[in-house]
Amino acid sequence: MNPLKWKLHWQILLSLALALVTGIVLNNIAHPAEGSTPDWLAGTEYGISFLGTLFLNALKMIVVPLVVTSIVLGIMNVGGDKDFGRLGLKTLGFYVLTGLLAVIVGLLVVNIFQPGKVNPEVLSQMQSQGEAADADKVTGAMKNANRGSKGFLEIFIRMVPTNIFAAAAEGKLLGLIFFSILFGFFASRLPDRMRDTQLAFWESLNTAIVNLTQFIIRFAPIGVFGLVTPTILNTGWGLFKVMVWFAVTVIVALGIHFLVTLPILLRVLGKVQNPLKHYRAMSPALLTAFSTASSSSTLPLTMSCVNKNAGVSKKITGFTLPLGATVNMDGTALYECVVVIFLAQLFQVQMDMAMQFQVVLLALMTSIGVAGIPSASLVAIIVILNAAGFPEESIGIGIGIVLVVDRVLDMLRTAVNVFGDSCAAVVIGKSEGETGILE
Ligand code: ASP
Repeated sequence: MNPLKWKLHWQILLSLALALVTGIVLNNIAHPAEGSTPDWLAGTEYGISFLGTLFLNALKMIVVPLVVTSIVLGIMNVGGDKDFGRLGLKTLGFYVLTGLLAVIVGLLVVNIFQPGKVNPEVLSQMQSQGEAADADKVTGAMKNANRGSKGFLEIFIRMVPTNIFAAAAEGKLLGLIFFSILFGFFASRLPDRMRDTQLAFWESLNTAIVNLTQFIIRFAPIGVFGLVTPTILNTGWGLFKVMVWFAVTVIVALGIHFLVTLPILLRVLGKVQNPLKHYRAMSPALLTAFSTASSSSTLPLTMSCVNKNAGVSKKITGFTLPLGATVNMDGTALYECVVVIFLAQLFQVQMDMAMQFQVVLLALMTSIGVAGIPSASLVAIIVILNAAGFPEESIGIGIGIVLVVDRVLDMLRTAVNVFGDSCAAVVIGKSEGETGILE
């Protein structure tokens, strides 16, 4: 069996397994956590993460052109006809529905598991762990959060950038998406002659970029190895132990959304009789989401899997997926909710039903504004903790504690985010009467 001939998702799985083994072996030989990293290890780590960075850069390189051309084309294809409003409303409706279900599951599970109910001894031990976790990251995130805490309206400000080129250069997708929607809409209403020129232009541009995307995706197995190995090498297993119960809570809640709620919706609303087929179709995107912890970077793969493997038309994928990658984050909304209730249990902050409901709303709204990049929800969590009246010191310590396991949970919630987007595309495609979609 020649691995080079395997299907892409098997290759990625193999490289994940190799990354796990390599990371653990190197961690055990060299113990980087104890401070002194031998030269050979630093060199090896650099070499491995070089591959990961190269792959990640290549993905990021195509995100902006892919998002812009797909949305413009997607909207141009629907903007001219009466479908537009209906499609938009349906998509947003589905996003809100799945987000709400995700948050409710998170709330139930965290209230049942009560991961934050620990005895005071454990708490003080965790506090020192948390403080040691990454002070810079905490203060950085808090600064961002304070800037962002003007709240929900900020999202609208970010939607309308003063300069779209600056937004593109800084990877601010929300503004770019908004502009592309408007542009596509008005381009679709041009007189026929001009509209056809525009359509031909955007169609060929988009096709070229999609082909380039396919090319980059072929390198995913190497990239995944380069991204995951250094993470495992630096953290090892020891650190995770303290936070196991919290992590288990998040994983169970994410698992319910991923394995129960979404497939039920796929079956009931998307008429997909065997949702397993959809998991299989999406596996390269899910594994990439898992290893990059970024829905935006995964977007190229998500689009290709939903279109090529699940059979949803380019019209629907171009419309729903780029939008979904930033706006629809089920896993993130669920995670924010679980973290806040967990920290409330830990620091004994009273959370009555009304307060929990407010947390639900804030988690839903902030997940819309969270960027599809690693650890982006930490900022939103700080915003919610502030709003829920957590004392300043406990916010810092709390985020420090969460950071210990954040990366692994980020990988999982990003996969759930991406899967949620793909289900939306299928459901919307089916509701539009498309026939080529997996049954
Ligand atoms: N990493 C997540 C994503 O890209 C966002 C987050 O929850 O931090 O989907």
